[in-house]
Amino acid sequence: MTSEGLPDLRREPHPNPLPDEERERILADPVFGTVFTDHMFSMTWTEGRGWHSATVKPYGPLTLSPAAAVLHYAQEIFEGLKAYRYEDGGIGLFRAEANARRLNISATRMAMPHLPEEWFLASVRELLAVDGAWVPGQDESTLYLRPYMIASEAFLGVRPAKEYQYLLIASPAAAYFKGGPKPLTLWVSEEYNRAGPGGTGAAKAGGNYAASLLPQSEAIEQGCDQVIFLDAVEFKYVDELGGMNLFFAYEDERVLYTPELGTILPGITRDAILTLAAEAGWEVRETKYSIDRWRRDAESGLLTEAFACGTAAVITPVGTVKSRSGEFQVGGGEAGKFTMHLRQTLLDLQYGRAEDTHGWTTRVA
Ligand SMILES: *Cc1c(COP(=O)(O)O)cnc(C)c1O
Repeated sequence: MTSEGLPDLRREPHPNPLPDEERERILADPVFGTVFTDHMFSMTWTEGRGWHSATVKPYGPLTLSPAAAVLHYAQEIFEGLKAYRYEDGGIGLFRAEANARRLNISATRMAMPHLPEEWFLASVRELLAVDGAWVPGQDESTLYLRPYMIASEAFLGVRPAKEYQYLLIASPAAAYFKGGPKPLTLWVSEEYNRAGPGGTGAAKAGGNYAASLLPQSEAIEQGCDQVIFLDAVEFKYVDELGGMNLFFAYEDERVLYTPELGTILPGITRDAILTLAAEAGWEVRETKYSIDRWRRDAESGLLTEAFACGTAAVITPVGTVKSRSGEFQVGGGEAGKFTMHLRQTLLDLQYGRAEDTHGWTTRVA
């Protein structure tokens, strides 16, 4: 049994799932976020009744009123985690409990109901129980899991909705970088912010991403990969990228800096790196870190490496930083040694190749 008391659980297997050969063909080289597994999970929350109608069913369109609150006022939150294929054929998760906890932190900020953590985890188990064959086996490929919650009540007034849907879909993903990570070129947005004090920056909410798309397009126009957001008060301190946290490594001092929590998204990868770096003998400092300092220390060579991190891209070196006032390189524009060491350490844990001394991994098959 994997249901863990999911309310009214119904399992409706797909009458004709994708044939094995077709699935294998897709898994050989999946394009991120374009193909979904045979099934999805859904559950409804209604005021006065709570969560009910847990269902595993064929992947397909939602039935939603055109007046559903999410479509008008963006009451939506989400999570992102991966299922990893172990060398023995099993399937594992990495810190899924932290995703379950963070969904509820986001829910609080967006005035949405909490989902009991054990039901979040049970929904992941349920979906993997029917779609486990969709977890790819090649190096650094994964099944990306997307749990999310939307306000589904049909009501145009502005107040928290009285009905919500929790959904879980899954999409196979190839290695983010084929042939190893390529150092990123980043664009400093001096016009737009992602999050201000008291805002929703620490919630994993779709609306934050909508607001990041225009500055991200500007970054692309400038020939960069991603946008760097600065703090909304002084436009001075580094916050993060649109969907990744940032780190700054000083090899001589063996000190690793990262922006403090507050307006940034509290990344689970970020949190794991803080632990792994400390175990590697580095001092970790969560503090304000200015863009001026980044430039100064990169140019002097004191700052030896910088990298971005998140579930999707794991750990990715930063090679070049551009802004209206010019550009600079970090570590000669190359991937740093410590960055690549942390990346390998993390991947070994995620794929169950290294001993899990932190209780971070869960085997589900
Ligand atoms: C999800 C996300 C991250 C990375 O978080 P992880 O838990 O490491 O995947 C960083 N920044 C933003 C804005 C995000 O939405």
